[in-house]
Amino acid sequence: MEISKQYDPAQAEQNHYQRWESQGYFAPEINRDPNAPAFSIVIPPPNVTGSLHMGHALQHTMMDVITRYKRMCGYRTMWLPGMDHAGISTQLMVTRELKKEGVSRHDLGREKFVERVWKWKKESGGQITKQMRREGVSVDWSREKFTMDEDLSRAVREVFVRLYEDGMIYRGNRIVNWCPNDQTVLSDLEVEKIPEAGKLYYLRYPAKNGDRGVTVATTRPETMLGDTAVAVNPRDERFQSLIGTRVSLPLTNREIPIVADEFVDPEFGTGAVKVTPAHDPNDYEMGVRHNLEQIVVIDPHARMTDAAGAEFAGLDRHKARARVVEKFEELGLLEKVVDYEFSISKCERCKTVIEPLISTQWFLRMDELRDDALKLLAEGKKPQFVPEVPYEKVYSSWLENLRDWTISRQLWWGHQIPAWYTAEGEIIVARSEAEARAKAGTDQLTQDSDVLDTWFSSQLWPFSAMGWPEQSSDLDTFYPTSVLMTGRDIIFLWVSRMVMVGLKFMDREPFEDVFITGTILDAHGQRMSKTKMNGIDPLEVFDKYGVDATRLKLASVGSTDIRWSDKQVESYRNFANKIWNAARFALMNSDGATTDPEMLNASPEFALHDRWIISRLNKTARDVRKALGGYEFHEAVQTLYHFFWDDFCDWYIELTKADVTSEVASPQRTAARTRLLSVLEQALRLLHPFMPYITEELWQKLPGLGQNLLHMAYVGAEPTIMLAAYPEAKSSSIDDAAEWEMQALIDLITRVRNIRAEMQIKPSEAIPILIGAPDEKLRAVYSANTSQITRLLRASEVSVSSQLEAPHASARAILAGGAEVAVPLAGLIDFAQEQQRLSKEKEKLAAEATKLEAQLANPQFAERAPAEKVEEVRARIADIAQRTAQLDQTIANLQ
Ligand SMILES: [Zn+2]
Repeated sequence: MEISKQYDPAQAEQNHYQRWESQGYFAPEINRDPNAPAFSIVIPPPNVTGSLHMGHALQHTMMDVITRYKRMCGYRTMWLPGMDHAGISTQLMVTRELKKEGVSRHDLGREKFVERVWKWKKESGGQITKQMRREGVSVDWSREKFTMDEDLSRAVREVFVRLYEDGMIYRGNRIVNWCPNDQTVLSDLEVEKIPEAGKLYYLRYPAKNGDRGVTVATTRPETMLGDTAVAVNPRDERFQSLIGTRVSLPLTNREIPIVADEFVDPEFGTGAVKVTPAHDPNDYEMGVRHNLEQIVVIDPHARMTDAAGAEFAGLDRHKARARVVEKFEELGLLEKVVDYEFSISKCERCKTVIEPLISTQWFLRMDELRDDALKLLAEGKKPQFVPEVPYEKVYSSWLENLRDWTISRQLWWGHQIPAWYTAEGEIIVARSEAEARAKAGTDQLTQDSDVLDTWFSSQLWPFSAMGWPEQSSDLDTFYPTSVLMTGRDIIFLWVSRMVMVGLKFMDREPFEDVFITGTILDAHGQRMSKTKMNGIDPLEVFDKYGVDATRLKLASVGSTDIRWSDKQVESYRNFANKIWNAARFALMNSDGATTDPEMLNASPEFALHDRWIISRLNKTARDVRKALGGYEFHEAVQTLYHFFWDDFCDWYIELTKADVTSEVASPQRTAARTRLLSVLEQALRLLHPFMPYITEELWQKLPGLGQNLLHMAYVGAEPTIMLAAYPEAKSSSIDDAAEWEMQALIDLITRVRNIRAEMQIKPSEAIPILIGAPDEKLRAVYSANTSQITRLLRASEVSVSSQLEAPHASARAILAGGAEVAVPLAGLIDFAQEQQRLSKEKEKLAAEATKLEAQLANPQFAERAPAEKVEEVRARIADIAQRTAQLDQTIANLQ
């Protein structure tokens, strides 16, 4: 069998993906079993403007592991890919492109601009889908969707119309977050709260009768021009006599009332607050409660309006602030200005300070939707969050505090709101313009110019992408989906909304489980971000270490947060090399042998190492299945890694080597070779969901591939490891006695190898091995395996007795089960020279210990050094003490 000496990940990556895709292996139709259970996932659709980052690579890896695993278990598996049109990001990107050509989107007009976005999408959008192929993801590309596709847009309109007809969508005046730079409304989630050092201004409003009046504290003096009340807490004794009286509002010729409202915090400022219903969300609510007038003094460009008075009209809000403060000072009404830390709301994208404005928008009422989702969680425990803590609580608290959702956006790219206006201003909501005309009885209609928030369409994804409102066969088979895998940052934006609309329109939750992945941080524990430029490009990591090694690292992240380190990927690259070399050994010694799972049905006649590896293989299959069943990815990776590296490579291959490499053909040699290939074949299947490329590359080289290796659901397909059956644990093959015996041998061999290393005995030197074991069963194990012991330890003799009798000058070690091993050293090493070497090591250690102890005794170090550093020094001192005791023992043995 020809197999190259070096593993080349790039080669393996190029060899298989296209074939898998074109053969239809990713599509559920490959499954021929009419009774196969269904397994489905929808991908969190990446933005059409996006390119692959670590967060995607992390989520995609875990989704692919689960999908490949379920497929190999015989599930009818469907992983649906697609992209999101990403309203504002895409519009900004194309606007920037136009700007380079010296054109604005307004020069172009709406229709031409939208055409231009589609052109951009066709030519440069969706880079990410090519990059995803490199990741090896087994998504069904034949079902790929885009949120602006005609069928998905139809679903959006249908949902809008039905919600409107149910009275859940309405148009109204509300206070909204407004970005004066982007000229659009933003949802609460698109606004960042940033702590800032600002000022708190104390402004006095004199009483109507010329008395002192009240003093209010504010961070935004310019809004006082729109004040329509002052509010105090009804229980605040300081203000009891003022409630119901009026004060004059300086700089205007208006008088405003003093009202009592529970919302007012008596601890803030003076305990009296100004109320500006048109420019503050809390004041807005208070205004509704007290029936206060809303006076708009700031416009959408963040300039003061005419209502602010002639002196201020047209001024920018910051200039107006300075002017207002100046005026108060002149009038002697500015009591004081103090430094004040508060959080200021900024646009997540452009960082402009948000202006709360009253504006006419479309809203979705959330109360009913929210109550249904909370009920499902309380009564049905759905969806099931993994990890449950803290995410179930994060989800439910968010829902409990949910307010109506502003769903309109002042953009051109997106789903235009399906509402039309007649000349008289009547609103017609319809699925199409034709339907609207029919409803209105006129052609004189103007469509609402706003589009819907991007999340309005993404929330429909689990069913709109499967063909809703048609009752498609995909919906029958694959809805609800099995699991959603995503990051914690979109539990609010996306997960909760999908549940709510899923319940409303499908009567079922959109997914059974929600697995929340961990986060990959940079080496310093910071979140990776474009602005910080600290991101790591997964494609570069793929180039450096191979996709499979990277995937293994990513899968092992599971649901915890980790700091990225190339070192860990490197160790998995070494693991991939180890797999390659082990397979190469098996293949180069495969003459006359084949791959035959039947050879793994354990029999008491098999040699110990065969019974043992079969038992380990079955336990590994059992443990990995259990781990994946609970989304314990880290656990699964560790189990596979230790099985393949320690059990299979370090022990099994060594123990079977003599039979496998025998020069003479014999039934025994053929059996050993076939069994080695068969264990390897099963191990590759176990690894496949994690490392798809190397496992397929090696699997295809195995002798004896045929239909018998495929899961029965895929009979008739070309042999591929993708469609092989995922190994199942047979309890009859789990052999605890064999594992116990083998553990005794491993223990012995490891200890004697340590002695060889410790005493610097030349590898070519054969050594006598004396074993004393009071336990009869242990003695039997050692005696039955003297030939393996001899070979693996290069022993000149192996003697086993109940009591250890060894010369004084022997290296000794205690074994498990009360046994002991000794290696007589006479003739093996130069005692004098060895004693000298060991004494030197002891001196060195003593010097190091003295230094470290002095460091600990230094009060400056103890106080200033970080706790882990101090701990490290202590641990090192303890290590030295232990090693010194060991050296003393060894030196004593040499005397
Ligand atoms: Zn902005």
